Amino acid sequence: MKPTLLTATFLAAVLTATAGDPKPVDVTIYLCGDNGAPSAVEQSARATVNWMFGKVGVRTAWRVGEPQKGAGQPSRAVVVVKFAAEAPAGVPKSALARALPFSEDGAAITVMYDRIRFIAGRSNREAPILAHVLAHEIAHVLQRTNWHAQTGVMKATWDGQDYDAMERAPLKFTTTDVELIKAGLTILRASR
Ligand SMILES: [Zn+2]
Repeated sequence: MKPTLLTATFLAAVLTATAGDPKPVDVTIYLCGDNGAPSAVEQSARATVNWMFGKVGVRTAWRVGEPQKGAGQPSRAVVVVKFAAEAPAGVPKSALARALPFSEDGAAITVMYDRIRFIAGRSNREAPILAHVLAHEIAHVLQRTNWHAQTGVMKATWDGQDYDAMERAPLKFTTTDVELIKAGLTILRASR
């Protein structure tokens, strides 16, 4: 199956899951920065992220730009993702992104898209890799930990087999990942 077909399948799943359902979203993700992915890659990655979180009962929504200071937030959790050309100081060369789970303001997640493009090489993997990088870092922010799982989305470092697998279908969150995400969202719900 070609990646474009997979993407279409995820999109259909997301649309089916949200059609006619008035429940508010759990997480709003703001995308900003000047070194983002091509539009088609970003759209595909967003659909995959929605699908990955939807699978574990977490509803996501997207905005472009930065959250307005002082404005009411549309969901319990707000995550800001900045696409940066330069890695923040102290981030290892091998890292594709960095999350600051305890950041109160500013960009909680920084994605170095050039590194994703480099890992993808000439393959069609940019969108699935971006989706997994976003899902991984967003989960860190929701979990409020730097916890890593042995397998799946929250593995500390993906290997070649993981990249092969994520091109076919999204990797999974482990049971512990999901428990931590749910616990984090409960805390965020109480604090709003
Ligand atoms: Zn991590």
